[in-house]
Amino acid sequence: MRDAVRLSLGEGSTILFMVGDITKQDTDAIVNAANSSLMGGGGVDGAIHRAGGAAILDACKQIVAERGPLPAGQAVSTTGGKLPAGFVIHTVGPVWHGGSQQEPQALASCYRESLRVADQLQLVSVAFPSISTGVYGYPVTKAAPVAVGTCAENLPQCRRVREVRFILFDEQTFDAYVGAAEKLLHETGQAKSRYSIEKIQI
Ligand code: ADP
Repeated sequence: MRDAVRLSLGEGSTILFMVGDITKQDTDAIVNAANSSLMGGGGVDGAIHRAGGAAILDACKQIVAERGPLPAGQAVSTTGGKLPAGFVIHTVGPVWHGGSQQEPQALASCYRESLRVADQLQLVSVAFPSISTGVYGYPVTKAAPVAVGTCAENLPQCRRVREVRFILFDEQTFDAYVGAAEKLLHETGQAKSRYSIEKIQI
């Protein structure tokens, strides 16, 4: 059993927050914080390719051969290979340059586009890592409200997707995301009274 936090958005849409390793998630898809080459790398990208095996890289190579490198903010899907998740949705987060180069817009686009791809695939559950807050240097306290806010806005509009899970690698990142969820609830509390947040064991 693990401590988790559940943000309910009403009408069956939920966002779950927990500390963990995204490669172990049994959601319909997991999202990869990839780089534009889609050739794998360090951090969560390396972990996903290692755990999922060569089929993921083969599919990525084919995508790049067809359409070229993936720009920041866009998303594409491949098989999940040997992962418990059936699909990997690869998205490219922005590199942090201080915040004045459209980084929040590009980061929001990563979450929005990944959800759109998942919905097109008719998936119900999607797990996200904390995109851009590792090697790409986006401060986690700034990234968390963008990530949570974008998912809270877009998830209820999906036709199929009902559950977003944020799988955060360490406590500090988890605290930042839960803090962003609490703030969102507080800020929209009056207008969106169907939002609620609770601690759960999963
Ligand atoms: P980026 O290049 O987008 O910054 P990173 O992989 O460097 O991507 O880091 C993004 C986040 O993913 C960081 O918070 C990092 O700690 C986390 N991370 C690394 N490995 C895993 C994993 N196996 N599961 C979930 N999160 C992970």
